[in-house]
Amino acid sequence: MANQQAGGQPVYILREGSTRSRGREAQEFNIMAAMAVAEAVRSTLGPRGMDKMLVDPTGNVTVTNDGATILREVDIEHPAAKMIVEVAKTQDDEAGDGTTTAVVFAGELLKKASELIDQEIHPTVIAAGYRAAAEKAKAILGAMAVPVKKTDKENLREIAVTAMTGKVGEGIGKMLAALAVDAVLAVEENGKVDTDNVKVEKKVGPGIRASELIKGIVLDKKRASEGMPKAVEDAKILLVNVPMEVRKIGADTSIKIRHPTQMKSFLDQEDEQLRRKLAAVQKSGANVVFCQKNIEDLLANYLGKEGIFAIKSVSEGDMNKLAKATGGRIVTKLEEITPKDLGHASLVEERRVTGEDTLTFVEGCKNPKAMTILLRGGTNTVVDELQRALHDALRVVGVVVEDGKIVPGGAAPEVELSLRLRSFASTVGGREQMAVEAFANALDVIPRTLAENAGLDPIDMLVALRNKHEGKDGKNFGLNVYTGKPVDMLKAGVIEPLRVKTQAISSAAEAAVMVLRIDDVIASGGFSEKEVAEAKAAAQQSLAHMRGGGMGGMGGMGMPPMGM
Ligand code: ADP
Ligand code: MG
Repeated sequence: MANQQAGGQPVYILREGSTRSRGREAQEFNIMAAMAVAEAVRSTLGPRGMDKMLVDPTGNVTVTNDGATILREVDIEHPAAKMIVEVAKTQDDEAGDGTTTAVVFAGELLKKASELIDQEIHPTVIAAGYRAAAEKAKAILGAMAVPVKKTDKENLREIAVTAMTGKVGEGIGKMLAALAVDAVLAVEENGKVDTDNVKVEKKVGPGIRASELIKGIVLDKKRASEGMPKAVEDAKILLVNVPMEVRKIGADTSIKIRHPTQMKSFLDQEDEQLRRKLAAVQKSGANVVFCQKNIEDLLANYLGKEGIFAIKSVSEGDMNKLAKATGGRIVTKLEEITPKDLGHASLVEERRVTGEDTLTFVEGCKNPKAMTILLRGGTNTVVDELQRALHDALRVVGVVVEDGKIVPGGAAPEVELSLRLRSFASTVGGREQMAVEAFANALDVIPRTLAENAGLDPIDMLVALRNKHEGKDGKNFGLNVYTGKPVDMLKAGVIEPLRVKTQAISSAAEAAVMVLRIDDVIASGGFSEKEVAEAKAAAQQSLAHMRGGGMGGMGGMGMPPMGM
């Protein structure tokens, strides 16, 4: 490909096989690709959204209506489309819910932008308008938000139920919501909630209703030796992250044994080492040991004979949770254990749950800062979808416990924002005004889609909602997707964390602006490894940028070039 002429000779600056599109054409391709992603998840939005069945190359099936899951599982190639997938990831990381909303809104912003570009409005102007609108939108949302205290368990449960509506049935949703709220409140520390401290252990079993919250940790593991007790009450728990075995002799070491007594003394020496380890455990007063590494069989036998319960090869994540749940400290030197390092649980037990399936329960912990929700359900597909719903529930409750702010659901915020931004637009003036208006119009995609997915007429619903919002005390009215009537969502208990909405607006607007600012796409035929590494680093940097939160984090208009 000849890119420049120098003295009549073509100068090749791109590798052979590279393709390039620029200007309007590049923009159009990018916008189309991004919109295609939004279109792919649109039908799943809301409580009456449809499910999608995903089949991976090895034939594994996932049935879900979770936008983030769909986009994670589907292989998307187009670079601009990938930017929209990033929106879902960012949304999930920051708010734990609202991924479909963010993606659908980003797609609509780009569609409206495309119409403006057709009217000869420059992408830079659109970008500026979108940024101003997003900032204003967040301010309006902030003013619209209602405070919620963490003692307000009923509200917290409603938030969890709203996040799970459409993913699980109503009764099950209420039950899981109660579990999620109790778990989140238990692991909260100094106003922060790390939902990683709520372990979700899945086991196919009698039915969803058998799911329960365990005041402690459940491990999908068995004790290290049959000779160990199956249950230990009033457990004093030792957490170890070094191998409990005799120091291994390297493969290239040779031991010369010339006489049977030498062999015996060598083995005696090994045995002596193991006995010392056993003595160290006993001295600490521990009657339960969780080891992140191996426990040698012989030592496991010795432990068992002394009535000590032990599990080997516990994952690092579980070790940390065990420490948080039992109040124990993870030790690295057996010789240096003190009784203070031990954690406590009223019961450690290896228990059969269904058929031959056993789990180890570490339960009855005092004031545990990590807990387990044991999820039960008829089939793997069921428990998997339950787990995704529960993930959203845990995150939204966590977010609200942290932020203490909620907004009404059912598209009430989007309808309100759309109205208020239209009047804000007139104060902006110039061509940017058109972009702010486009942003306001794009917000309508959320109530329209909620209605459409519920089999309701989108135009009628939008008109009815707008009428309410224009009237007195109507700002909290959203769509009851079952009756097709606008209702006060706060009163109906359909509520969402403020952060879910502000983050959806931020990440959608940022992604749309990013896609708009590209007017040159150069796709090389084949990249060297170095080029791929550089491109990845650049992509990660821009993602980190997006995560920086807020439109301001992008440094005004100064977006970094796309590394091309
Ligand atoms: P997302 O991935 O964006 O969270 P969802 O499929 O979970 O997508 O749908 C979320 C939307 O559904 C939000 O606008 C939320 O307010 C709305 N919603 C949830 N429950 C209800 C309900 N009971 N009635 C009306 N709208 C609801
Ligand atoms: Mg949701």
